[in-house]
Amino acid sequence: PPSEKGSGSDADVPKDLAKEIKYIEELFTVDTAKLKQITDHFVKELEKGLSVEGGSIPMNPTWVMGFPTGHETGTFLALDMGGTNLRVCQVTLTDQQSEFDIIQSKYRIPPPLKTGTAEELFEYIADCLLQFIQTHHDDLSQIGRMPLGFTFSYPATQNYIDEGILQRWTKGFDIEGVEGKNVVPMFEAALARRGVPIRLAALINDTTGTLIASAYTDPKMKIGCIFGTGCNAAYMEDCGSIPKLAHLNLPPETPMAINCEWGAFDNEHKVLPRTPYDITIDEDSPRPGQQAFEKMIAGLYLGEIFRLTLVDLHDNHDRRVFVGQDITKLRKPYTLDTSFLSAIEEDSDENLSDIAGLFQNKLNITPNKAERILIKRLAELIGTRAARLSACGVAAICKKKGYKECHVGADGSVFNKYPHFKERGAQALREILDWGEKKDPKEEDPIEILAAEDGSGVGAALIAALTLERVQKGNL
Ligand code: BGC
Ligand code: MG
Repeated sequence: PPSEKGSGSDADVPKDLAKEIKYIEELFTVDTAKLKQITDHFVKELEKGLSVEGGSIPMNPTWVMGFPTGHETGTFLALDMGGTNLRVCQVTLTDQQSEFDIIQSKYRIPPPLKTGTAEELFEYIADCLLQFIQTHHDDLSQIGRMPLGFTFSYPATQNYIDEGILQRWTKGFDIEGVEGKNVVPMFEAALARRGVPIRLAALINDTTGTLIASAYTDPKMKIGCIFGTGCNAAYMEDCGSIPKLAHLNLPPETPMAINCEWGAFDNEHKVLPRTPYDITIDEDSPRPGQQAFEKMIAGLYLGEIFRLTLVDLHDNHDRRVFVGQDITKLRKPYTLDTSFLSAIEEDSDENLSDIAGLFQNKLNITPNKAERILIKRLAELIGTRAARLSACGVAAICKKKGYKECHVGADGSVFNKYPHFKERGAQALREILDWGEKKDPKEEDPIEILAAEDGSGVGAALIAALTLERVQKGNL
């Protein structure tokens, strides 16, 4: 540990928090053996989700039945309802192989809408869509024939590609009267009230969009992942390996993208190394007992895990952290988002002065040097744990499918912005899959997790295109 240079004014506070640091290290470290154990259990749970009886991972068939060729053409609308933002896109797939043009607008979903009524939510979505159309088109009738792909990134049962029966809200959403219902008519009704002549061609998950958009430009892409506000993955299965679809008698080699909804992995708490803080997050969430895996990994929760740990260190454990400081602001749930942790991890200054500033400004706390070291270590541990657990899911899909070499397309704020997330995930994959040490640092890993194409925009457009093609050919 870095040596302590006394800062003079901190006479009453411990200069060394080695004991506290050891405590958090033991709590948040996931070693190789544990990663392997989690992965093996994960493989079984993926299988279970495909079975007739089902398991806790939903493994939802998406009716996306094949990869794009790169020759898809046309202009499409894409609507992306994520955990934080709403985005409207118009995507033109050009006749140039794997090329596209996109125009888009982004709107922040007002947080109260997440716990309001269904009508408010769909009215808001329809308003954003209408605003986008009015900005870019003089004539509403121009839009009438433009098929729309709706990226609705929540677990949904689909008997058809243009249906989405919400299984449960995730990511802090809690809107009554939607779970168990098809969201498509709610959305279409809000459009109809505005006289917008749009027809939804496909409802898709962001992971499925990511899979398809990534495969559009890189045929080695076999899995699409989101590490953002929520976390999840999709991959291409063959119908012969989906016992719960056997009654449909589809040819066994028919491809079917599966939206795993792996956030629900280990809801029965058999293998994940949950800390007391993970348990608190779950218990205080709108949906206790659900999304156990997601709650340890996703951007919505990382700041909260960090906050709960610091509050506990202040209140308990010999009370040597933030001694004599007013931590009122730190006591407020969900005050720290993942970007706060990112900023902490980015402080490479020897004196950790950015951390001092962040705590001062956001929380009105003045951490001494020992506390700043603990803060940085805690952020590293939480970020590292998230990346390592994520790798278990990727490794499990690869093991299940027998993929020894492939690319995995990943998107989301945690993947794209959280410092070291990619390298930590890659390191964990290396350990789980026993690749041994890299000889040349520039060498590609057999399985690489790479930044994906825009799944919720381009992916949604491609899926709309693939769906129309399939309908025209009269297939399913
Ligand atoms: C949702 C998934 C989604 C993921 C990433 C999860 O909370 O259940 O459908 O893919 O977040 O957005
Ligand atoms: Mg998104």
